[in-house]
Amino acid sequence: MKNVAVIGGGLMGSGIAEVSARAGHDVVVVESSDDAAKAALGRLEKSLERAEAKGKLGAAEGTAADVLARIRVETDLDSTADRDIVVEAIVESEAAKVDLFKRLDSIVAAPDAILASNTSSIPIMKLGVATSRPTQVIGIHFFNPVPVLQLVELVPSLLTSPDTTERSRAWVEGSLSKQAIDCQDRAGFVVNALLVPFILSAIRMYESGFASAEDIDRGLVLGAAHPQGPLALADLIGLDTTKAVAESLYEEFKEPLYAAPPLLQRMVDAGLLGRKTGRGFYTYS
Ligand code: NAD
Repeated sequence: MKNVAVIGGGLMGSGIAEVSARAGHDVVVVESSDDAAKAALGRLEKSLERAEAKGKLGAAEGTAADVLARIRVETDLDSTADRDIVVEAIVESEAAKVDLFKRLDSIVAAPDAILASNTSSIPIMKLGVATSRPTQVIGIHFFNPVPVLQLVELVPSLLTSPDTTERSRAWVEGSLSKQAIDCQDRAGFVVNALLVPFILSAIRMYESGFASAEDIDRGLVLGAAHPQGPLALADLIGLDTTKAVAESLYEEFKEPLYAAPPLLQRMVDAGLLGRKTGRGFYTYS
């Protein structure tokens, strides 16, 4: 696979575009508006300049400018027509993703192209059956920050072909140098099915006044050797994404432990989405 498209150049999409371009792929990022495209390019530039300054770009990757030269940010979905693999990383909305997969199905021309989703919780089957080629639709779930975290969850639906799964694995492990684990097509896959109830419990604990945000996070960092506490992690993931994933898990399993606590709902309504808006459980400058 040579030509890659990433749809959505937000937190995750810009990271997926970066690791793909660093691996030498020709990358098109498709955003929803000119402003969003500009923001996506800014995220890519900032991240690559930081990687370069820290000496993280290898000789094969080239300079930040070399990597950026392999990426185009567009607003026209037709620019995915010649891609070998398309990775969708738009907002966590089933309706938006289903609509996008329908459109991709009519645009992406290569008969064996892979249509992948980075969704955290939406069933891959729902995306697969929105297309005429469900055997080529798969979940390729990266972790945030994508250039740093090694894990990728590979999520074939019941209709995904073994060939699609194995070509996706070869791309993720052989080309992007990530490590894949295999998951079934159930909301949350492996990591979020375990992580999200943990984060929601921390929010409930904070909401009840049982302990401060700082003490909850320090407790897990100092007492359980977590690299960051659950509330800081929710801010990093984005509270809108955390809420959307919780709702998908709740929808799938109907277990109270997956229900988004009122405080999380109110913070999202207020636009307090964590790091990406400068304020969540903590304030960021
Ligand atoms: P984000 O809000 O940072 O980015 C979403 C981007 O998609 C925005 O830039 C938006 O402009 C763009 N967009 C929306 N609709 C579009 C469309 N129709 N066409 C093109 N672009 C469109 O969100 P994110 O955190 O990057 O999450 C993206 C996906 O990745 C979600 O499915 C989420 O569940 C998943 N994910 C998120 C994390 C995380 O930690 N945030 C981790 C793994 C997976």
